[in-house]
Amino acid sequence: MSRYLSPRLAALDAYTPGEQPRDMQYIKLNTNESPFPPSPLVLEKVSEAEVGRLNLYPDPEATVLRQKLAALHGLKPENVFVSNGSDDILNFAFMAFCDENRGAAFADITYGFYPVYGDLYGIDCKVIPLKGDFTLDPTEYHGLGRMIVIANPNAPTGLTISEADIRGILESNPDNVVLIDEAYVDFGGKSVYPLVKEYDNLLVVQTYSKSRSMAGARLGFAFGCTELIRDLELIKYSTNPYNINRLTMIAGEAAIDSNDYFMDNVNKIIEAREYTASELRKLGFTVTDSKANFLFAKSDRIGGEELYLELKKRGILVRHFSKERIKEYNRITVGTMEQMEKFVAAVADILY
Ligand SMILES: *Cc1c(COP(=O)(O)O)cnc(C)c1O
Repeated sequence: MSRYLSPRLAALDAYTPGEQPRDMQYIKLNTNESPFPPSPLVLEKVSEAEVGRLNLYPDPEATVLRQKLAALHGLKPENVFVSNGSDDILNFAFMAFCDENRGAAFADITYGFYPVYGDLYGIDCKVIPLKGDFTLDPTEYHGLGRMIVIANPNAPTGLTISEADIRGILESNPDNVVLIDEAYVDFGGKSVYPLVKEYDNLLVVQTYSKSRSMAGARLGFAFGCTELIRDLELIKYSTNPYNINRLTMIAGEAAIDSNDYFMDNVNKIIEAREYTASELRKLGFTVTDSKANFLFAKSDRIGGEELYLELKKRGILVRHFSKERIKEYNRITVGTMEQMEKFVAAVADILY
């Protein structure tokens, strides 16, 4: 750290992204990307002609993109916010809805970025332990008087909570935002976006990074009541009004127009997930009932870190977290069926 850094930030423990090594070609099952490229329509629309217009600023209101997203979900454009990845929206939400008097609450085992935003803004964060089986007790989120952030499906467990449980949390916290992070919802969860018509305190956040094969484009979106969306716009126009670049905007519009292509890929990933889960169980693994594009598994024969290292030696990358409660587990992104067959063969080779 330089002597110029604000002392407020000196102790900040920043988020660590999954490794993106360049030393060799790995089967990359470590950052929950899609193994499939974006749709042919996305490739076609992000054309040379569009690149040629990069001298012009993009539409700060993302009018067409928001219209398309609203139409796809039966909402109005004023209920839609778009930004440079959903991490950006999470950041805006912590900025907009928390301060020294308004804290946040989230689980101990969940997306690792939530505590980082909390620390960045000096927000008091209540960390609520999941139960022994990694499920969440919704009653622990009742009447908290702070912004609540829940990933559904959760990361890195892939477990879901029900719409009824989310309603209970929304109803018992009418004066605080309840943010449901649905980064993985397309892989078997159920989105609660229709509830934004009923609950003013609900913010639903989704991303193009996982099910829509556009992690590299950086595009996230959120649904909420008009006032909540305006709050996010206040932050956007106070930091970076052109928060989505022209090419990403075009890619996003084309992605919505090729929904069937993505849903096809989602089904392939679900099939590969169920195959891999069942093979891992046969090999003695404990595997959570994941509804995401990853599995969360621990072996009865080998430690989590050791398995991660052995797989890496064999050219397969998975994600290992050293946090005490989950250090025997690995998070395995679900790739193509072919990749998962190679993964299962490597695991069997390591264990037997
Ligand atoms: C991947 C992920 C995000 C961030 O997605 P981007 O849109 O790529 O920024 C947010 N929340 C969870 C739970 C994620 O796993």
